[in-house]
Amino acid sequence: MSNINLDLLRQGNRRALAKAITLVESKLDSHRNQAQQLLEEVLPETGKSIRIGISGIPGVGKSTFIEAFGKQLISLGKKVAVLAVDPSSPLRGGSILGDKTRMEELSREENAFIRPSPSEGALGGVAQKTRETMLLCEAAGYDVILVETVGVGQSEYEVAAMVDFFLVLMIPNAGDELQGIKRGIMELADALVINKADGESINLAQRTKQHYQNAFHLIKHGSFWTPKVETCSALEKSRINDVWEMICEYQQLALDNQAFYEKRARQNAEWLNKLIHEMLEMRLKQNPEVQSKMPLLQQGVMNNTVTPYNAAKQIVDVL
Ligand code: GDP
Repeated sequence: MSNINLDLLRQGNRRALAKAITLVESKLDSHRNQAQQLLEEVLPETGKSIRIGISGIPGVGKSTFIEAFGKQLISLGKKVAVLAVDPSSPLRGGSILGDKTRMEELSREENAFIRPSPSEGALGGVAQKTRETMLLCEAAGYDVILVETVGVGQSEYEVAAMVDFFLVLMIPNAGDELQGIKRGIMELADALVINKADGESINLAQRTKQHYQNAFHLIKHGSFWTPKVETCSALEKSRINDVWEMICEYQQLALDNQAFYEKRARQNAEWLNKLIHEMLEMRLKQNPEVQSKMPLLQQGVMNNTVTPYNAAKQIVDVL
């Protein structure tokens, strides 16, 4: 596992990249240490890409969109990596996102790299592995990283916390259904893109766009960017470049407002905090003294003979 050729990785060799990712995803402690060493070595070469999160419920057209979007970016001379965060994959024993068969055309492109969701992750979960994989892709010279996720559970929050720009795909929608979008998503999104704006849905897509535009103006953002709403057809490959231009506009504005790198720094700091919490919890759970004290204290709390505060303190004081 240790014979990862860093020079080859830096030159963008896909085999070397794939091997490094496998190391990062490994569950063995010894591999984890090697992976961290490797990551620290390539750290200076990371961070040069634009990181874009793409979310949306199954069927909205994520893989069709990513295929069209990815090919458009490649035609502009970019190298594109597609990663996935699919928290449901450990249950199914396989990933539903990012697998090659879903993006056949894109996967044949020399300048595209597609990696399915890791099936599980220890500390930090699947999202941690994806963050690390993102860094490796950057070191290998990929300049656009697309992180795909399904619109379920925590995954949207996790992906939004690791990207520069978070895009939510929607379908043209009428009337009451418009209320269905979770407010949380409106707050996470830097843009909504109404896909399937083609055929008979064109007018409906326009109305949907108007609705969300109004909704965004009602939410206070207090920053340099009010989230935008676009329409496109991934199937007909129309207005795909408009989405890219919007992201470029965002990036320029963020840079001009000193917000781009500030956001990344904040994301790193928050991730550090999250890892510290998780590591502490793991240490506690594995500590023999904690393990022996725990049942009695739990019992005491349930019987109202010990206050939860005192019980927690006795546990934490073990460390
Ligand atoms: P995912 O589950 O979000 O990855 O969605 P897919 O990309 O697999 O697309 C789901 C279905 O919607 C497929 O049958 C696609 O052909 C179709 N689809 C995707 N994009 C469009 C579009 O822009 N217009 C139309 N009419 N259909 C689309």
